Amino acid sequence: MSGRHSHSGGTPMRREEGRRGREADVPSSLVDAFASRLQGQLIRPGEPGYEPARELWNGMIDRRPALVARCAGDEDVVAAVDFARDNGMLVAVRGGGHGVAGHAVCDGGLVIDLSGMRGVDVDPEGRRAVAQGGCTLGDIDRETQRHGLATPLGVVTKTGIAGLTLSGGMGWLRRKHGLSCDNLLSARVVTADGHLLVADESQNQDLFWAVRGGGGNFGVVTSFEYRLHPVGPEVFVCFVFYPAARTKEVLRSCERYLSQRPDDFAPIGILGKVPQAEDFPPEAHGKGYAALLAPYPGDPAEGERLLRPLREIADPIRDLSGTMPYTETQAILDEDYPDGWRYYWKSMNVPELSDELIERLAEHAAAARSPQSTIDVWYQGGAMAHVGEEETAFANRDAPYLLGIEANWEAEADSAENVTWVRDTFADLRSFSAGGIYLNFPGFLEEGEQLLREGYGMNYERLSAVKAKYDLANLFHLNANIKPKS
Ligand SMILES: Cc1cc2nc3c(=O)[nH]c(=O)nc-3n(C[C@H](O)[C@H](O)[C@H](O)COP(=O)(O)OP(=O)(O)OC[C@H]3O[C@@H](n4cnc5c(N)ncnc54)[C@H](O)[C@@H]3O)c2cc1C
Repeated sequence: MSGRHSHSGGTPMRREEGRRGREADVPSSLVDAFASRLQGQLIRPGEPGYEPARELWNGMIDRRPALVARCAGDEDVVAAVDFARDNGMLVAVRGGGHGVAGHAVCDGGLVIDLSGMRGVDVDPEGRRAVAQGGCTLGDIDRETQRHGLATPLGVVTKTGIAGLTLSGGMGWLRRKHGLSCDNLLSARVVTADGHLLVADESQNQDLFWAVRGGGGNFGVVTSFEYRLHPVGPEVFVCFVFYPAARTKEVLRSCERYLSQRPDDFAPIGILGKVPQAEDFPPEAHGKGYAALLAPYPGDPAEGERLLRPLREIADPIRDLSGTMPYTETQAILDEDYPDGWRYYWKSMNVPELSDELIERLAEHAAAARSPQSTIDVWYQGGAMAHVGEEETAFANRDAPYLLGIEANWEAEADSAENVTWVRDTFADLRSFSAGGIYLNFPGFLEEGEQLLREGYGMNYERLSAVKAKYDLANLFHLNANIKPKS
């Protein structure tokens, strides 16, 4: 998170090595038959639309799939899964294309692309909404806010609901109403055998349990049904920047304040550098800040009154707090994450914010190579911790804090030093963690199995058994992969 407001024929297909151990072409007649089964579009290399179809939000990812199936509905997804499975193709699944690790496209293989499936259907009386698997957060908020309702999602509107929900989903409502996956009422899932299943509390319960935290391992989710809550349409947002020298006071005051309040709001502490923007005094440009960002999801006047202590911790560099539409709150950080920039993130849970940890956080934030990079402190707990550890697949619920280490930069030439900053910071801070990472902020899981298992925590073995039931051949493995139990 930044909180900067600063800137604005015979298609050769590579079968996955290791799965089949060789390359082979799928005959063009089969590709043509597949294309004719689709109501959406099949995009091949060289065709118009191929280049944008392989681009992801993270400009670090540059892969060339053999085929992109731009699905128009559930039946297209079934056709794509059948085609990939029957022809032994590597499969990537794309929702909103904002997965940090870039698993939504592959080299060779087939991308099952849901970005054309963005319908949202709201039942205001029943306080439910069904959203197709290619929706972004903004798609849902726009429709639900017409009725003064919302479901817990993330904090940047262009993020996809699919990846977000399947691995948890943490946003401004997490302490009051839980994670996105905690508000999932049902999901329609196309499994590896090409069946379209409904997963909810009464049907395919094991699958329903697994998709609430187990990521994209179990099939392609074509739609998500969410529980809605009254929120907005106006909310008060605390968004205050203090000098980095006050970091300890800022993070501590926020911690203390939260401990005295009901679970009604969910702040993020952000450590970064003041942008060269009109919003900030010129003498502060480039200097370190410790910011608090926290919308109050109830009555705005009450929010203004309640959040005042967080705005009076010290003399701020700038206080951008105010009342605004909830949809605007959801977009407050949007401009900090331009499409096509380069991003490398990691995260870890920590059990406490000790003085030593806070000092190290401030030091590492000051050492960031890119002025757009930040270290974020997500205050967790509240409703997300009231759900039992084994109730859904999402693990590590009792961790009170999540640290996000985000390198965000533009030029390829700066990649190595930014990646190194994240890795060094992560390695240095590991001793403060009792284990656990957030699988939606994985960077690239080059540390392998160990971290991944930490992310799934005690639920890994059960997830592995569900994986074996629904995807024994591990067709869906371009993700934080759970190995099928043998
Ligand atoms: C700018 C930005 C802000 C973010 N903010 C937050 C935040 O506030 N809170 C938070 O919790 N997370 C946040 N995230 C992390 C985000 O939740 C993950 O990056 C998530 O994977 C994005 O989902 P997507 O559908 O856009 O991604 P994609 O890249 O499309 O997909 C990611 C993975 O999800 C799986 N997947 C995607 N669609 C489907 C589907 N329909 N069925 C089955 N599997 C599927 C696949 O394995 C795929 O590789 C943020 C990410 C970004 C880039």
